[in-house]
Amino acid sequence: MWSDLSEKVILVTGAGAGIGHALVSQLVSANAKVIAVVRSEAQAQQLLAIDKERIQVVLVDLKHWQAVRETLKGLPKLDGLVNNAGVAIIKPFEQLTEQDFDAQFDVNIKAVFNVTQAVLPLLRDGASIVNVSSIAATRSFAGHTAYSATKAALDSLTQSLALELGPRKIRVNAVNPTVVLTKMGADNWSDPAKSGPLLAHIPLRRFCEVQEVVDGIGYLLSNKSSFVNGHHLNLEGGYAVS
Ligand code: NDP
Repeated sequence: MWSDLSEKVILVTGAGAGIGHALVSQLVSANAKVIAVVRSEAQAQQLLAIDKERIQVVLVDLKHWQAVRETLKGLPKLDGLVNNAGVAIIKPFEQLTEQDFDAQFDVNIKAVFNVTQAVLPLLRDGASIVNVSSIAATRSFAGHTAYSATKAALDSLTQSLALELGPRKIRVNAVNPTVVLTKMGADNWSDPAKSGPLLAHIPLRRFCEVQEVVDGIGYLLSNKSSFVNGHHLNLEGGYAVS
């Protein structure tokens, strides 16, 4: 699977932390070239220290529509796009503010729309787009009202783009993990009183590993999924059947 991606050019958002960072490292190990989108200089330097031949860093805050448009101009042709950056603000419904709502919608869906539209002319025919969604798109969790809505919107966008871009042989899919213990996952699920009841509903009795998400993304980017289009790949250890 990873050998399919040798010398391919893949743009990854949220590339400086968590799942995105692990994905960049894996892609570089597979001899792919990565356009890594981050918003902090420190993360940019850290990525360049991994491999400045294979990693090109783009510094931009995805909340800023026009800045994203300007920054992504002039990039090389792309074989893949991974819309990975995300924000989770988990609070009871009555405590969520307008700012909380906008912060999540701005990054989790509006920026995906914007980045994808901005790089569309750069995507080679036959390219693959992978959106990092969540099991929360289709299952309810306390405190996740706004976050879940962003990911449901992302699954919808995934399907609509699969339809519209299919004639160019561009495939569009999503991965939908359950909890992954990155900073985001740890911030929201470290308390055993909260995680225990969820784990009891996952037949494999554990959360998803970062590498398992990376492997799911790699599959959808590679030719091994050449007839998979418009799907979301649930990575939830059987939670959906429990
Ligand atoms: P992290 O919080 O570790 O990483 C999120 C990434 O998104 C960071 O690199 C962050 O940058 C970036 N990001 C957030 N806002 C912006 C912005 N305005 N502009 C540019 N970059 C931004 O979380 P994960 O790695 O866990 O999350 C990756 C994806 O996986 C997300 O889409 C998330 O919703 C999804 N997911 C995560 C799960 C989990 O339990 N962890 C479960 C299911 C799905 P910075 O470091 O600068 O903040």
